[in-house]
Amino acid sequence: MSLLPQKNRRNQRHLVLYVSVQYHIYGYHNPIPVIPKIHGFPHKPGVQAVLQQTICSLCREGKAVYARVYSGEKLCRKCFIKTFEKRVLRTIARYRLLRRDDRIAVAVSGGKDSLSLLQVMKKIESSFPTAQVFAVTVDEGIEGYRDEALTLVEQAAVKLGVPLVKTSFKEVYGVSLSEMLSSTAFQRSGLAACSICGPLRRKAINVAAKKAGATVVATAHTLDDIVQTYMLKALRGELGSSEVGLRSDGPALPRVAPFRLTPEREVVFYAYLTGVPFQSIVCPNASNSMRSSVRKFLTEFEEKHPGSLFAALKSFERAHATEGKNLQLCKVCGEPTSRETCRVCELLKTIQPTP
Ligand SMILES: [Zn+2]
Ligand SMILES: [Zn+2]
Repeated sequence: MSLLPQKNRRNQRHLVLYVSVQYHIYGYHNPIPVIPKIHGFPHKPGVQAVLQQTICSLCREGKAVYARVYSGEKLCRKCFIKTFEKRVLRTIARYRLLRRDDRIAVAVSGGKDSLSLLQVMKKIESSFPTAQVFAVTVDEGIEGYRDEALTLVEQAAVKLGVPLVKTSFKEVYGVSLSEMLSSTAFQRSGLAACSICGPLRRKAINVAAKKAGATVVATAHTLDDIVQTYMLKALRGELGSSEVGLRSDGPALPRVAPFRLTPEREVVFYAYLTGVPFQSIVCPNASNSMRSSVRKFLTEFEEKHPGSLFAALKSFERAHATEGKNLQLCKVCGEPTSRETCRVCELLKTIQPTP
């Protein structure tokens, strides 16, 4: 940090934003070429030039601060925020993600995506006068990392006036993630930390949300995340098994993604513009998973061919429309799954010490 030409606080803010974008879009393990590019966002030269001179293409008044490369729009701060929030509402309506009388549990990790979602959901709660929004967060028990995130979640809940439900791996599974990871059974399993943590978090959130009377869980998965998940399913031969981030009928608590049509970089920019805090501590278990390779590929492809993520989503949705869904309930824990025993129960079996 000390190498930077810190002329003023703005540069500092740009730096934080830039690092976050790199960090959240390209993954944890890419070297971050911060110094030559701290001025302006996005950092593509053409876009940067545009942003310095252009007025907003919507209101024709404000100074453009963001260029939507895939649509050609250049937006001022006010119009960016307005269109961002409108798109979330449109997404909810288009896919019928929420109902008027829902009790919506927003899954909040403390990352900028989920804090942004909580903020947007609270704002649009007024469009659903009989619906209620509350936050659910899970403490995995990752020493040194979770504390900051939990503090951010608590602060956001207070600031927005949203009730907060907390749960933990310890409460749901009897052991913390750190304890699971240090077991010999885990070390012998050859599994990556994230491949355990992800499914276990998902289930813990579901359990706590259900207990608190939720009728639906809203997650902060962005367009990028959703396309990555479909892509991963395709690479594993599981495409068509179940849809990602859409409401499905059945006994399971539905999980919906109101950011389904919102690119990750726009969530980052929204967070930046509206003062949503960014985490400063990296998860110590973050690893180069299959998802990182898919994310890297898709992000680079989108950079070169803007609009590809939207096109990919459309294709995956079409593929699903022709394939049937076959969700059933896990024979061990009763949670929804596309197989006999759910992924969490399989994982728990793998990492449990043999008696
Ligand atoms: Zn404008
Ligand atoms: Zn299960």
